[in-house]
Amino acid sequence: MTGPANDGGEFQSPALENLVRSLGRLPGLGRKSATRIALHLIDGGGTAEELIAAITTAVGQVRHCSRCGAITEDDPCRICTSPRRDPGLLCIVSSPVDILPFEKGGFFGGRYFVLGRLLSPLDGVRARDLPFDRLERRLEEDGVREVIIALDASVEGETTALYIQQLCGNRDLHLTRLATGIPVGGSLAYTDEVTLQRAYQFRRSF
Ligand SMILES: [Zn+2]
Repeated sequence: MTGPANDGGEFQSPALENLVRSLGRLPGLGRKSATRIALHLIDGGGTAEELIAAITTAVGQVRHCSRCGAITEDDPCRICTSPRRDPGLLCIVSSPVDILPFEKGGFFGGRYFVLGRLLSPLDGVRARDLPFDRLERRLEEDGVREVIIALDASVEGETTALYIQQLCGNRDLHLTRLATGIPVGGSLAYTDEVTLQRAYQFRRSF
C-alpha cells in the first residue's frame, strides 16, 4: 500500500499518487510534505475521516460576509449586524485574517471592510480587481465618519492606501492610517496585539 517510490519516482498506486498531487496543490506544500501527509492519512487512525468531515462542513458553511468580506457562517456577519459596533467607523484591511488581531485586542468598536487583495500594478492587480465600488456604497449607506486604513506596511499597501485617499478625497470624512509600529515589510495579521494597539492609538491623518 505505502511501498517505496518506483523507478519513475511515483508510487505504484495511482490513487495515492492522485492524493499526493491534490495535496501538493495546497499553498506551501511541496511533494515531500504532501507525501508525508498522504501516507499519514491512509495509514488510518481516523484522521482521514475527521478531515473529510471537517472539510465538507467548512466548505458548505463558511463564506465571505457580503457586506464586509469577513469569514463567517452567517451573512451578514455578526460584526456587521451588531448594534454595539459603530457603523460610522470603518477599518479597511486587505485580508479577512487581518480582522483577527483587532478583535483579539478588543479596542476597536467599529466595523470592517476587507479588500481581499492589495493593488499591485506590476503583478497586474488593478483597481478594477478590488471591490472599491462596494466600498463606496458602504461609505454612503453607513454614513461613515472615519475611515481607518489598516494595510500591510509594504509597497502594495502604500499604493492601495494612496488609491483609497483619492477615492475618499471628495467625501466629508476623516481619513486616518495606523501609525508606525508595524514593521516595514511585515504582515499585519501576525503583529502582536500590543504593537497593533499602539499603532492604532497613534494613527494619524493621511
Ligand atoms: Zn460583515
